[in-house]
Amino acid sequence: MIEINNFIGGKNVASETDNFMSLSKPTTGEEYAKVPITTKKEFNKVIEEMKMAQLEWAETALTKRSSILFKFKNLIEKNFDEIATIISNEHGKVFSDAKGSLQRGLEVVDFACGIPHLLKGSHSINVGTNVDSFDIRQPLGISAGITPFNFPAMVPMWMFPISIACGNAFLLKPSEKVPQCSMKLAELFSEAGLPDNILNIIHGDKSVVDFILQSPDIASVSFVGSTPVAQYIYSQSAKYNKKVQALGGAKNHMVIMEDANLEDAVNGLIGAAFGSAGERCMATSVALPVGKIQKPFMELLMKKANSIKVGSSLDPNSEMGPLITKEHKAKVLKFIESGVSEGAKLEMDGRDISLQGFENGNFVGPTIFNNVTKDMTIYKEEIFGPVLSVVNVNSYKDAIDHVNGHEYGNGTSVYTSNGNIARDFMKNVEIGMVGINIPIPVPMAFYSFGGWKGSIFGGSGMHGEEGINFYTRRKTITSKWADSVTDTSLIMPTMK
Ligand code: NAD
Repeated sequence: MIEINNFIGGKNVASETDNFMSLSKPTTGEEYAKVPITTKKEFNKVIEEMKMAQLEWAETALTKRSSILFKFKNLIEKNFDEIATIISNEHGKVFSDAKGSLQRGLEVVDFACGIPHLLKGSHSINVGTNVDSFDIRQPLGISAGITPFNFPAMVPMWMFPISIACGNAFLLKPSEKVPQCSMKLAELFSEAGLPDNILNIIHGDKSVVDFILQSPDIASVSFVGSTPVAQYIYSQSAKYNKKVQALGGAKNHMVIMEDANLEDAVNGLIGAAFGSAGERCMATSVALPVGKIQKPFMELLMKKANSIKVGSSLDPNSEMGPLITKEHKAKVLKFIESGVSEGAKLEMDGRDISLQGFENGNFVGPTIFNNVTKDMTIYKEEIFGPVLSVVNVNSYKDAIDHVNGHEYGNGTSVYTSNGNIARDFMKNVEIGMVGINIPIPVPMAFYSFGGWKGSIFGGSGMHGEEGINFYTRRKTITSKWADSVTDTSLIMPTMK
């Protein structure tokens, strides 16, 4: 059994707690580590150290900050496969998928390397007589991040590179289900030259989240996770007057129009519905084939879903790994039972999958329901597993009503060859991230990531312009230097 450490002051530090949570490998079920629940005393000490370090970091030249970020980027590239292996082992996603998610995180570091440019303010000369006005962006102080299990590297990397580039110190509380990957990232950032106590990691559960929320020394909270917890984080942050961005759950729909390229749509859907075993906030969990395409769509979907190879995360032939925990597997199985009992047609049943040598892993095979309706539990709730609901609709209007009527608003996509439909969809859909003939429309690092409706609280998305805005405070200065213009010959030499 490994004991997971905290990362404080540039090194691994064993927690003083006697309170631990146990961790099991998703692929085999074998118990392998214990995760500390950091104490209040340790938390208070960490915050004191971060306060001091942040003051100095905020004075560090932008070019110096940028050069440390460049070194960090190079170190991630050098250690890429090792980090992706940690992700696969602790999360269970297959190696190719783990590498893809790390690449998306790396792109945020790449974006943050441009911090000297990104922090440029504005300046207006003579807004009044001899009066100038300008904006500057200043750091917040200490910012905190609370992250989910499903992207052990990428989601923390949406946050800390930008926060730190902006001159803040960052305290991360990663998911207790995947505590190791962010430790490796912090070690590499430290090796790149990041001063001690600018990125610290403490582990724990709700009790540690509450230390963060209630601390008067933490200026902002970035959260990604389930909607009920996002709502809690949002309301508590408001209570303690913190800046907050809280991204929640999702139920993403894909619309397949009669004129769609069916092969492309189904290929995209297979990856979007079953990649990472459906444990993605941008996973497609509802397909809406429109009108005559329904029959050929279903035939092709079944054919392709049948050939998905489920297996151990590090087997290069696997395309889909296990779910995160036994408890989560039980929850997904209960959703499947509810689909059956509420009358959906179970076309593909992933419940009885058994893999030789991995009998205790948390595997559920691809599962497909047809004839799903709006009132069913499997339609209304986020399952976060490899379960796809097909809702047959007769018109484009019916499809868009489904998308807009759902409580979540994270991502959606439409497959069509009709530009008018694509444009109407892009304009009228009430969703934050929209794909047109693209199954998983995750914005690049220089755009911002975030949904609408029940998928976000606090309004601010991650990275891109919204990330820079979130991790800085704007200050607007209005200044007058009247005496400096008395001798006009100094400022207008050509008029002598
Ligand atoms: P979760 O909400 O259970 O946990 C997220 C974090 O909150 C963890 O660090 C956890 O320790 C902490 N936490 C858990 N319960 C808490 C409580 N009662 N009070 C305070 N803190 C608590 O989420 P998860 O199961 O780790 O991740 C899956 C969820 O995250 C899904 O709903 C998924 O859609 C969502 N997600 C959303 C996005 C997005 O960008 N919108 C991205 C990834 C994941």
